Amino acid sequence: MTAEATSTGERRTITYVFPIYNEAGNIDLLHKTVSAVVEPLSDRYHVNFIYVDDGSKDDSLTRLRALADVDDRVTVVELARNFGHQMAVTAGLDLADADAVVIMDSDLQDPPRVSLELVAKWEQGYEVVYAQRRSRQDTAFKKFTASAFYWLLRKVASIDIPRNTGDFRLIDRKVVDELRKFRERDRFLRGLVSYIGFRQTGVLFDRDERHSGVTGYPLSKMVRFAADGILGFSVAPLRLISRMGYFISFLSFLGILYVAGVKLFAPETAVPGWAFITIGMFFLGGIQITMLGVLGSYIGRTYAQVQGRPLYSVASVWTAAKPPAPAVSAESLVP
Ligand code: UDP
Ligand code: MG
Repeated sequence: MTAEATSTGERRTITYVFPIYNEAGNIDLLHKTVSAVVEPLSDRYHVNFIYVDDGSKDDSLTRLRALADVDDRVTVVELARNFGHQMAVTAGLDLADADAVVIMDSDLQDPPRVSLELVAKWEQGYEVVYAQRRSRQDTAFKKFTASAFYWLLRKVASIDIPRNTGDFRLIDRKVVDELRKFRERDRFLRGLVSYIGFRQTGVLFDRDERHSGVTGYPLSKMVRFAADGILGFSVAPLRLISRMGYFISFLSFLGILYVAGVKLFAPETAVPGWAFITIGMFFLGGIQITMLGVLGSYIGRTYAQVQGRPLYSVASVWTAAKPPAPAVSAESLVP
C-alpha cells in the first residue's frame, strides 16, 4: 500500500517499532498505554506493533509472546543475541510494511501520547517528524554529556542533526525505503535520517523518567554510540591530524631559525652537533605528522567509499503528462 492509497479510500498503516532490552517491567504497561493512545487513530489507520527483543536476559520475550497471543496487531521479533539498540530498531524498520513507522523507546521515557502529534504532522505532509526533548528527567551527568555530544556533533558533522532528538520519531514509508539501503554496520540512525533528507520537522515534548528497570546504555555504550555519530558523519578527527602537522611544522620552522641563529651568532653557547640533531628532530616531527594527515585524507575517502551509502535519494520524479503514460509509475522509474 502506498501513501496515495487514501485517495482510493483504503486505510493506511502505521507501525510502531519498539526495541526491547530487559524491559520485562515495562512491556505490559507500555502496550496498554500505547493501545489506548492509538485508539483515536484506529478509524483512519491500521495500527500495528513490532516488538524487537534484542537478546533480553529477563523474561521480556515470554511477556512479548504472551502479548502476541492475545493481540493480533503484535509481531514479536527475537534477535539471536544482543545486537544493540540501533540494530534492534533497524530490524524493526526492515520488517515494517507500513505507510509510516513510529520508533519509540520501550521504557515509557518517550510518552506514547506524543506519537499522536507526530502523526498529525505527518498528515500535514512531513515525511520525518522527530520528537525533540524540551526537558528530560535524567541525571545531571547524562544531561551534561548529551548536550556536550550534540554540541560537538553539530560542530563537526557534515549534516545538520537536530539537537536533543533521540530515535523517537515518525518516518514515512519513502524514507524507510531509503533507510533500508544504508547497510553500514556502525549505525547512527538519527544521523542517517537527517542525511537522507525529505521534509522534516520536529515536535517538542518533555521526556519522562524510565518507568522501571535500568538503562541499557551504560557509559561504555554511550561513548561508542557518540563515536558512531561523529565518525559516521565527519572526517574532522582525520583533518585534525593535518592541522596538527601544519602547526608542528610551523613551530619547527621557528625552532630551526632559532637553532641556526644560535649557531651563527653565538656558536660558543652551543654544544657541538646540537644544531644538526635539533633541526633534524623538529623537521622530521613536522614532516611525519603532516604525512600522517595525508594518509588520513586517503583513509577518510576510503572510509566514505566503504560505507557504501547510496549516492542520493529521489523524493519524486515529475514528467510532462503524456496520455499513454499510466502503465509506468514514477516509482518504477526509480531504481
Ligand atoms: N535497547 C536495546 N538494546 C540495547 C540497549 C537498549 O534494544 O542493547 C532498547 C531499550 O530497551 C529501550 C531503548 O533501547 O527501549 C533505549 O534504551 P535505554 O532506555 O536503556 O537508554 P536511555 O534512555 O537510558 O538512553
Ligand atoms: Mg530510556
